[in-house]
Amino acid sequence: MTIRRQVYLDHAATTPVHPEVVQEMLKVLDVHFGNPSSLHAYGRAANHYLGVAREKVARLLGANSQEIIFASGGTEADNLAIMGTARAMQGKGRHIITSAIEHHAVLDTCQLLVKKGFEVTFLSVDKDGMVDPDDVKKAIRRDTILITIMHANNEIGTIEPIPEIGRIAREYEISFHTDAVETAGYLPLNVDQLGVDLLSISAHKIYGPKGAGALYLRQGTQLEPLFHGGGQEKMCRPGTENIPGIVGLGKAAEISAREHAGESNRYRKLSEKLINGIQERIPGAKLNGHPVQRLPHNVNVSFRGVKGECLLVGLDQKGIAVSTASACSSGDTKVSHVLEAIGLSPETGAGTIRMTIGRSTTEDDIDYVLDVLVGLVERLRKQD
Ligand SMILES: *Cc1c(COP(=O)(O)O)cnc(C)c1O
Repeated sequence: MTIRRQVYLDHAATTPVHPEVVQEMLKVLDVHFGNPSSLHAYGRAANHYLGVAREKVARLLGANSQEIIFASGGTEADNLAIMGTARAMQGKGRHIITSAIEHHAVLDTCQLLVKKGFEVTFLSVDKDGMVDPDDVKKAIRRDTILITIMHANNEIGTIEPIPEIGRIAREYEISFHTDAVETAGYLPLNVDQLGVDLLSISAHKIYGPKGAGALYLRQGTQLEPLFHGGGQEKMCRPGTENIPGIVGLGKAAEISAREHAGESNRYRKLSEKLINGIQERIPGAKLNGHPVQRLPHNVNVSFRGVKGECLLVGLDQKGIAVSTASACSSGDTKVSHVLEAIGLSPETGAGTIRMTIGRSTTEDDIDYVLDVLVGLVERLRKQD
């Protein structure tokens, strides 16, 4: 009998829930069910756990706990940051600056604002996926109310020059938001060093549960809520708090503050091993994203002459989970906006897969993935 090996390499899509997080969540699910707004003992207990989680998230970000707004995830945090700023600041101006490679939570919100009469500059990036801070500066106008640029890209792993852009935003006194969903747990996050006024994170990308996230909102930054109905989260996000989710996020934040440095070093070695192995053993393979300024766990590669979906299916049959950025519909492959923005041809884009390493990944896993990948690419190329 052969034991089938399982290698999960899709940590940028979601992560498993850390056992310590499960324990914390079970405790509040089971015992502390009170509404944190209630004044009796049940409510006070729930409110205590809410406060502890807020402190842990604040500590991860180098922020003050009053500056943390809990939300339902990265998507909501991004929507609240952008839409909430647009609504609060539209009297001053209606121009927003973003990049062409943002997550859809940012991109689609900006596109909706264009339909509503705002003007948005979508900055292009270089071939490595890098935004040029000079381009941000040049795009600033008298009516610019928000700059929103992601900390690191979820597809290709490129880390953007957020502190430089933060200095520009500060100089011109423009609110600055960053989507840090993919960097939390991998890079040190300090809102003052980054120079941001708003920052989004999501629990399920850092070994917490799905459906929980947070927006950092610097004291004094103007924001209008998207929901109405109660006073929770400083009126910015009313509704009875998702205590189990928030407690899970808090624990996940605590673990990542404690472990991200060591883990990131380990991920970097593993991803280097994977990249080097691919480049040595598979001709016509191209690493996408910045060669150095990249997330330690992200390996995004284009293989000439093969289809990413075929690779995904072939790897899945061997127990290896990866992702493709291109969606194949009726033989007509559409490359993702990110791969398009870094100038990949439709053919190269179609042969692209993303592998993202995580807590469970071992050196043996990388050896196994390399062996499978080498054989699979060879086989698929012969079929053509
Ligand atoms: C996953 C992701 C999001 C969305 O977060 P959810 O919690 O799934 O809504 C936003 N931005 C980036 C960069 C992401 O990777």
